[in-house]
Amino acid sequence: MFIVDNFRLQTFANGYNFDYLSLMNTEKTCLDCGSVIHGRADKKFCNDLCRNNYNNQLNSNSYNLVRNINNVLKRNRRILEELNPTGKTKTTRERMAAKGFNFKYLTHKYDTQNGKTYHFCYEYGYLPLEGDEVLLVKREDKGE
Ligand SMILES: [Zn+2]
Repeated sequence: MFIVDNFRLQTFANGYNFDYLSLMNTEKTCLDCGSVIHGRADKKFCNDLCRNNYNNQLNSNSYNLVRNINNVLKRNRRILEELNPTGKTKTTRERMAAKGFNFKYLTHKYDTQNGKTYHFCYEYGYLPLEGDEVLLVKREDKGE
């Protein structure tokens, strides 16, 4: 008993405010259901059911939303890059749409002094012109 108290005293003296004894008694719990896990030290789930359940949760809802929008933005950027190898050219909305361009998503807008609004996906941008025509541009500078 004296030894235990002495050990606690030393840990406090060292500036640690947690209890080493309860830390050593901490049992590993399943990441999915929270049940205590027995077995190997690197085990994270009780069984395959809990593992699958946990991974399915990761693949749903908000995680999926962010991933899907990121994929749309990356695809939009790739399409603009393909259609605009020189850095400035003209195309049509129809050609962009045919490649799978999603007009709903962009990273930012840029308003010029004469009232035009460029739509950007990262460094690649486009400006809607007359009718179906679109001017494609590329920003050489990084950031704003
Ligand atoms: Zn479990």
